[in-house]
Amino acid sequence: MLIVQKFGGSSVANAERIRNVAGIIAESFLYGHEVVVVLSAQGDTTDELLDKAAEINPAPSKRELDMLLATGEQQSIALMAMCLEGMGLPVVSLTGWQVGIHTDANYGTARIRRVDSERLRRELDKKRIVLVAGFQGVNKFDDYTTLGRGGSDTTAVALAAALHADKCQIFTDVEGVYTADPRKVPAARKLEEITYDEMLELASMGAQVLMNRSVQLAKRYGVELEVLSSLVRAPGTKVKEVSKNMEEMKITGIAKDEKVARVTVAQVADRPGSAFRVLNAVAKAGINVDMIIQANGRDETNDISFVVAESDADAAAKALQERQSALGFDHVSLDKDIAKVSVVGAGMMSSVGIASLVFEALNDEHINIQMINTSEVKISCVIDATSADRAVAAIHRKFFET
Ligand code: ADP
Ligand code: ASP
Ligand code: MG
Repeated sequence: MLIVQKFGGSSVANAERIRNVAGIIAESFLYGHEVVVVLSAQGDTTDELLDKAAEINPAPSKRELDMLLATGEQQSIALMAMCLEGMGLPVVSLTGWQVGIHTDANYGTARIRRVDSERLRRELDKKRIVLVAGFQGVNKFDDYTTLGRGGSDTTAVALAAALHADKCQIFTDVEGVYTADPRKVPAARKLEEITYDEMLELASMGAQVLMNRSVQLAKRYGVELEVLSSLVRAPGTKVKEVSKNMEEMKITGIAKDEKVARVTVAQVADRPGSAFRVLNAVAKAGINVDMIIQANGRDETNDISFVVAESDADAAAKALQERQSALGFDHVSLDKDIAKVSVVGAGMMSSVGIASLVFEALNDEHINIQMINTSEVKISCVIDATSADRAVAAIHRKFFET
């Protein structure tokens, strides 16, 4: 059997954790499996590298930033290789460039275009454990790129797809995917199974346990994932096309995203095409928007508000201000102290009353809802950031603890 195993930053944070993970890898290898391992940078290394860069230059080029960030994962694979070598096991470590993980040229948010499997295959044929640096690839200029935060998950799924692996295991610091972040909601329940679609929504709405793009890729290539703990031996959560839970559970989980901001464009002329022009200006800057609302203002004007990723907020404001006279609005304001809390579940479609239960939970806690967005598989509410954890806990109680 060919297995891809991915270990996140906390799983390889120090020498002891590296030894622990080496034990898991060795066990699979000695059992007779072919093993490809994807590693993240140790602990908070990626954040520390970002801080280091900011000390030197607050606005470094994205190319050089990726050059720096890619070193984090490279340290992990070399250290893990040394550990396995010390155990007398055959092993080789490879960077994204050495494997041939080809990406587009978008430094910092690169997408994988193609994965060469020849080198990986050759190393496996030599009966070696292959360690691959996660989160990185190489673009057409032969420069390092990184895939975006949490990107090692995507590396693992891409390798599993390219190699037609039998299994893709994502080892992390919790025992699986839960009904809410188990670190914030102690009563959260571990899910035995979850569908790709539900996992994709949870991940996109802020559950960082899997990067959303890794789930997309897994769905597209039919890679079944298992999320499990590197520290506790227990069955994890299977992410697959159809899950057992589908019929019985109306909602699957609750996610929170604090890395969002609200942009309000005040006093836009109330005439056809205004909203289009405002949102088009933002789209042209390459920024995704979510949860758009329009409220009637004074003097035949409307206020248009929408949510963007916090990291895009300043760029969105700039793109609008640059076109202020053409768009005809009064001013743009930003609110970064918001959070988006979302309830996700495929069973929601056929069931009225889910939304009112969410609103009741927030009302019980006197939490004001600023914006609402509903779809067939989720309900999201924008609230004050300071109330976010309380909101998740309250909604969790309503749906899972009664
Ligand atoms: P890794 O370093 O292994 O990639 P991450 O920190 O990226 O780990 O993701 C694991 C974390 O995701 C957990 O520690 C947990 O706090 C958080 N998390 C958020 N939502 C969920 C959820 N629904 N189920 C499990 N973990 C979650
Ligand atoms: N080290 C990268 C990050 O911190 C990638 C990953 O951990 O998946 O985002
Ligand atoms: Mg992660």
